[in-house]
Amino acid sequence: MKTAKRQRIRKAILLASFALFPVTIFYFSPYLIVYGAFQGIIAGSAIAFTLQLLSAIFLRRAICGWICPAGGMQEFEGDALEKPSKLGRRLLIKWIIWVPWVASIVIGFVVAGGIVSVDPFFHIEYGISVTSIEAMVIYLIIIALFFIPNLFLGKRAMCHCICWMAPFMIIGEKIGAALHVPQLHVKSTPESCISCGLCDNACPMSLPVSELLEEGAIAHSECIQCGACCDACRRDALKLGFGKM
Ligand code: SF4
Ligand code: SF4
Repeated sequence: MKTAKRQRIRKAILLASFALFPVTIFYFSPYLIVYGAFQGIIAGSAIAFTLQLLSAIFLRRAICGWICPAGGMQEFEGDALEKPSKLGRRLLIKWIIWVPWVASIVIGFVVAGGIVSVDPFFHIEYGISVTSIEAMVIYLIIIALFFIPNLFLGKRAMCHCICWMAPFMIIGEKIGAALHVPQLHVKSTPESCISCGLCDNACPMSLPVSELLEEGAIAHSECIQCGACCDACRRDALKLGFGKM
């Protein structure tokens, strides 16, 4: 009962975050960060992505599992679809997008002669993202970009394939691991597992949890620390907690 409550709380937070997405979407904008860079301005999304990287040192990808509005929308979609996503080489696509994009940000600041100012509300009127027809069109395009492909590719497929924020958090969690700091992660007790597969079915990221748990912890970089596998397991073989991995 206690664990099911955790997932209800998580889903409620994700729903609230998605409801606020018209307000917050430009703070996650991959375009405004580049546009700002070429003027030497650190935009709101640059601050947001830096905070995501720093948080991941200790929380790994918990932002994806607990707060991300686009992740939340995809998770509700995934719950309705119940179609697992394939992993494999698809995971590389986001890096193929991310590397040249980050390079363009660096080039922007070089061309601008360095950092001139910090403006968290750069091109965000009154601090609210969607305040015009144009902004609404951009919002709907982003929603479609994260929603429609999943209908064919499965649960949270766009988290795996195109999310430009996920690499920041993957880098953050690798830094944390290299520094040996305590991190939020799923610990496992393989001896307690009866291979029922409930955790595999519960994972919103379609991870083969019952195979990964053999290592004593779920170390996969696509794990978003949602705890759904822990809450599905009836043998207490999985636990979400802090500690060194
Ligand atoms: S739900 Fe628990 S017992 Fe079942 S496969 Fe997963 S870890 Fe093993
Ligand atoms: S392995 Fe567990 S904690 Fe990680 S994403 Fe899957 S269900 Fe969530």
